[in-house]
Amino acid sequence: MPNVDAQELHKFSELAHRWWDPNSEFRPLHQINPLRLDWIDQLAVLRGKAVLDVGCGGGILAESMAKRARHVTGIDLAAKPLGVARLHALESGLSNLDYREVATEALAEESPAAFDVVTCMEMLEHVPDPSSVVRACTTLAKPGGWVFFSTLNRNPKSFLFAIVGAEYVLRLLPRGTHEYARFIRPSELARWARDAGLSLQGTKGMEYNPLSQRYWLSEDTSVNYLVACRKPA
Ligand code: SAH
Repeated sequence: MPNVDAQELHKFSELAHRWWDPNSEFRPLHQINPLRLDWIDQLAVLRGKAVLDVGCGGGILAESMAKRARHVTGIDLAAKPLGVARLHALESGLSNLDYREVATEALAEESPAAFDVVTCMEMLEHVPDPSSVVRACTTLAKPGGWVFFSTLNRNPKSFLFAIVGAEYVLRLLPRGTHEYARFIRPSELARWARDAGLSLQGTKGMEYNPLSQRYWLSEDTSVNYLVACRKPA
């Protein structure tokens, strides 16, 4: 059984044509992208590196990393977002970027220890068995390589902000984008990462002010958060 929820892929495929519209449902991804890109680059130094972006969707993060890294591979299991990503890369004139429709676990069997940096952002909360993706990302990283995750915390505040606030009040995201039961506590993600053999290097929270409509990185991991890990050399 592949580790995938067909309904989740369907949701992203339905919206795929609007992926690069900065005022669409994907506005939050466009807005947070410079923040996460710089954090990843500060820690892992993308210049000259081979990078894998897991659950890349339409390629917002993948493209931005390709402008700094030697090469980026983006993988996803939703065909339409990948189609959009390929077209957009052509339009952007990026030749060091390729996209593949392949499961993370399958690529891990095919190309273990192939990447200096692996990123897996806003994807684990859409997957039936996220710990399996964490293990596969670890396998895909070279010894000494970096692995980054971001997802949504699970607590009353994240329910209020990420579901009620974002989907119902502010309508930043379509209703049903996120399912509360799939949110992941930092302690759970940390345990999966450690069990996979990663060592935790840092965590950041992502905050949003609906009045200024701005995001910023902080130490508050209560809603959206990022984790940086390293595979032992
Ligand atoms: N990582 C991108 C896109 C996040 S949206 C970014 O942060 O900009 C979540 C993505 O995860 C979608 O593109 C969806 O198709 C993908 N996804 C969901 N389940 C998946 C699975 N089991 N395997 C691979 N990708 C998956």
